[in-house]
Amino acid sequence: MDCLEGIGISPGYAEGVAVVYDYETDYRLEFPDRDISASEIAAEHNRLDDAVAHSHRELQQVEQSAGTSTSRADSSAVLAAHTHLVHDIAAKVKQYMGRELVNVEQSLDSVIGEAVEQMCQLENDYLREREQDIRDVGRRMMRHLTGAPQFPRGPLPAQTVIVARELLPSETIELSQAGLVAIVTELGGKDSHTAILARSLGIPAVSGLFGVTSQIHAGAYLLVDGEAGRVTIAPSSSKAAEFTKSREEYQRSVAVIAADETLPCVTRDGIEISLLANIGRPEEVEQIGPHDLSGVGLFRTEFMFLESHKPPSVETQYEIYAQTAKALGDRPLVIRTFDLGGDKLPPFLASLPLGPHPSRHLRGLRFSLAEQRLFETQLRAIIRVAQSADVQLLFPMVIGGDDLSRAVAAVDQAVDELRALRRPPLGAMIETPAALFALEEILELADFVSIGTNDLTQFMLATDRDAADLADECTSWHPAVLRAIQRVVDAAAARNCPVCVCGEAAGEADFACLLVGLGVRELSMTPVRAASVRYALRKLDGAAVQELANQALRCVSPQEVRQLLAHLCLTGKVRP
Ligand code: PEP
Ligand code: MG
Repeated sequence: MDCLEGIGISPGYAEGVAVVYDYETDYRLEFPDRDISASEIAAEHNRLDDAVAHSHRELQQVEQSAGTSTSRADSSAVLAAHTHLVHDIAAKVKQYMGRELVNVEQSLDSVIGEAVEQMCQLENDYLREREQDIRDVGRRMMRHLTGAPQFPRGPLPAQTVIVARELLPSETIELSQAGLVAIVTELGGKDSHTAILARSLGIPAVSGLFGVTSQIHAGAYLLVDGEAGRVTIAPSSSKAAEFTKSREEYQRSVAVIAADETLPCVTRDGIEISLLANIGRPEEVEQIGPHDLSGVGLFRTEFMFLESHKPPSVETQYEIYAQTAKALGDRPLVIRTFDLGGDKLPPFLASLPLGPHPSRHLRGLRFSLAEQRLFETQLRAIIRVAQSADVQLLFPMVIGGDDLSRAVAAVDQAVDELRALRRPPLGAMIETPAALFALEEILELADFVSIGTNDLTQFMLATDRDAADLADECTSWHPAVLRAIQRVVDAAAARNCPVCVCGEAAGEADFACLLVGLGVRELSMTPVRAASVRYALRKLDGAAVQELANQALRCVSPQEVRQLLAHLCLTGKVRP
């Protein structure tokens, strides 16, 4: 019996037979790489159009055979995003081919390579993990161009545990329809679409196991514990019995949580909490209904800029925001203006010659103020949509009254120029230490604030965003971060200003309880996390947790805070 310790990226327990999947060695075909003449371009375009049509059809088929309910909505959102990507990528491949005069496979490979490199440089885990989707779509299109085989070549055995270097999002959906019970990989973070889908589909997944495809042989019997991030190979009978007991307990609590999914999010003593969604693409609004969320608390709009070789026009952006607002009906949509700058530069700016380009050194709102034209186009598109929908505008990385007042002036000017009747409510992200010391100035100007615990934690604790997974010292549970949140909540309450928390920590059930104890009443999160947050909050005694939160503010370490909360026994075994 061997035991491998990795990171649990989707909770739950499953046992089954290992099927080893190595894309690089068994499924990737070498593709022809050659220069072409201008007269060959039309034929290459035809080949690409065929690959697009096949990819499109395949994605539709996968969607049609997806299950029902919540997991279907989550899968559909990913597949819809892939369908868009197929077309976007094809357009870029045609441009590349025309410019470089190389064949379609080489053009596709280069376009995907460039896009992936761009995304991998991003600090934001959510956006960085989207590079997986680009490779996923690229792989699908390449398969149709080269005729490479698709995994699996035949039916999967019952109770399959996939052991792979990496499993891409659409493979996760397809394999879930074919008998997959657990996923064991080297690569893949908790914010990847693969992890999000695995959680939604109830498939336990363990990642971070380097060299796992050579450590586990095909046919080995495995126990996968997605809670602890543990994989046991060829278990002893006592280990297997212990595992079965844990699995049964887990399944009972999952059933209880699922049953609460559509119940109001109210604590035992009647405190109402609004649960909202964080989305990064319009298609993701499909997840709002099944998870019974009150609207979108954070629409990250960077994708439009990072995936484009030219600045997206007002019209293009308007269509995207309007489509998202329409899908939400009368639920609110908080659109955050692009959070770019530093190493997060859209290709159309990154390709400018080096030289004096001041915005390169700026981030968030100050980057937007320096890239005035680009900012104006986005404001105009949002203001137009806000004329007929409940749309609110949120600025990232605000540091004080100066940058915020310049942003407000830009909105006012756009409202005047458009002769718009309604100025959307304006919000400021509180995610820099500077903003904590400029709360009064910010609250003077903002209609609402949203606390970004991802950045706030990294900047306050001098850490980086990935460290939160690795070191307990670096998390939002740190008392200093809690005191910062408290400060924002108190200052906002004094002015009757709504406060939302939209960092990832808001989607951790036990941290969400702590936030409620601190006085937060709006939480915005990745939709699949909502069920366990709702469950925990419905069990919560608001007065008791407020007392605990007060004690937490006086703790000296995140570990001490966790211990305090553990006494409350909030969420049982199930974590999102
Ligand atoms: C945050 O920093 O917490 C946040 C929500 O913004 P993003 O993750 O997009 O940086
Ligand atoms: Mg942020």
